[in-house]
Amino acid sequence: MEKIKMTTPLVEMDGDEMTRILWKMIKDELLLPYIDLNTEYYDLGLAYRNETDDQVTIDAAEATKKYGVAVKCATITPNQARMKEYSLKKMYKSPNGTIRAILDGTVFRAPIVVKGIEPCVRNWKKPITLARHAYGDIYKNTEFYVDKPGKVELVYTSEDGEEKRALVQEFKAPGVAMGMHNMEASIESFARSCFNYALDTKQDVWFGAKDTISKTYDAKFKEVFQKIYEEEYKEKFEEQGLVYFYSLIDDIVARVMKAEGGFIWACKNYDGDVMSDMVSSAFGSLAMMTSVLVSPHGYYEYEAAHGTVQRHYYRHLEGKETSTNSVATIFAWTGALRKRGELDGNQALMAFADKLEKATLSTIEDGKMTKDLALITSLKHPKVLSSRDFILAVRDSLDRLMK
Ligand code: NAP
Ligand code: MG
Repeated sequence: MEKIKMTTPLVEMDGDEMTRILWKMIKDELLLPYIDLNTEYYDLGLAYRNETDDQVTIDAAEATKKYGVAVKCATITPNQARMKEYSLKKMYKSPNGTIRAILDGTVFRAPIVVKGIEPCVRNWKKPITLARHAYGDIYKNTEFYVDKPGKVELVYTSEDGEEKRALVQEFKAPGVAMGMHNMEASIESFARSCFNYALDTKQDVWFGAKDTISKTYDAKFKEVFQKIYEEEYKEKFEEQGLVYFYSLIDDIVARVMKAEGGFIWACKNYDGDVMSDMVSSAFGSLAMMTSVLVSPHGYYEYEAAHGTVQRHYYRHLEGKETSTNSVATIFAWTGALRKRGELDGNQALMAFADKLEKATLSTIEDGKMTKDLALITSLKHPKVLSSRDFILAVRDSLDRLMK
């Protein structure tokens, strides 16, 4: 069989620990036998980030701007323990944070739905994709404790000396106060990322905020989404039969619980933080969750939603067998390869991505899975496989599909 050719390189960001082990197995067993893999490789493993003073992370993000599509392995975000473990020169920032700051985007997370792993919410039949705004609000707030009676005010002074003042509270007794902000440009790019992703994946967009209570702040989010939708997306949405729907956040939460799924749920920063954990755990497992950073400039970075699975890695280092779920990492690759194929008009690459996903899901549906899924599956007598044997079982199904 002739291998599939790639015209443009894919930016490949290698990572750490157990996911780095899975990364190599996936490439060796599931990709290289079928594709003339054309990647520009960046080693984001912590040792090499340390060697390059983290320059490699910046280079990888810049390469993503150049080529448009990247696939990333999970990486360690250093803390005190890692400083020692890896003898780090300094406590580097989270690679995801660095990459997001350079690409400026919204993170979309969607569960991988498979027969045998049923969501806790009975009527959810299709995945719910959560789009979390990743700038501002309480994540960039200032707050303090007020310990005696007095006045808290919000004061704005423009560069030319104009002043705006509003009373927050006349405190008669101790209490707390907080100030926070967001940027119109950031809300605009959040809206565009959501609408672009919706057109890409042919899904409706639901957005909720609390504009009845927050008549300026949340109302601005509602207004920006509405304006951008009408001016830039309405026609394209209608052509494709898609819907943009705004309601109050509490109404949206109630509707989400009763819906079938199959839409994008756009959330303000805090709502997204809370609701993505609810959605992912209700769908079964963090290891069955895809994650893609979509920038308003048209760059895409695909990854798994979970971390480096440290405990499994230490077992692996002791020479013990592991049963680590590689599905989200496989889907990071298929997402990136499909997008690369789409941008290059490479049908063979897109078809390959579809087949690899199909092979992965059918392996699980046949009852062959890793331990984390065996614990929650509704299938009778699942066969628990090691990390490697699961990937080899996917290889078997893939071989059959490729013939
Ligand atoms: P984690 O790697 O997601 O693992 C947490 C636990 O979830 C694991 O111990 C394991 O449970 C289970 N799990 C996660 N993924 C799994 C998989 N693929 N297969 C089977 N079980 C899985 O999170 P963490 O332990 O908090 O973080 C470890 C490292 O990852 C940290 O250094 C952190 O900085 C980094 N991290 C990176 C990213 C990223 O790059 N996007 C995201 C999050 C965390 P059991 O041990 O009970 O089996
Ligand atoms: Mg959270």
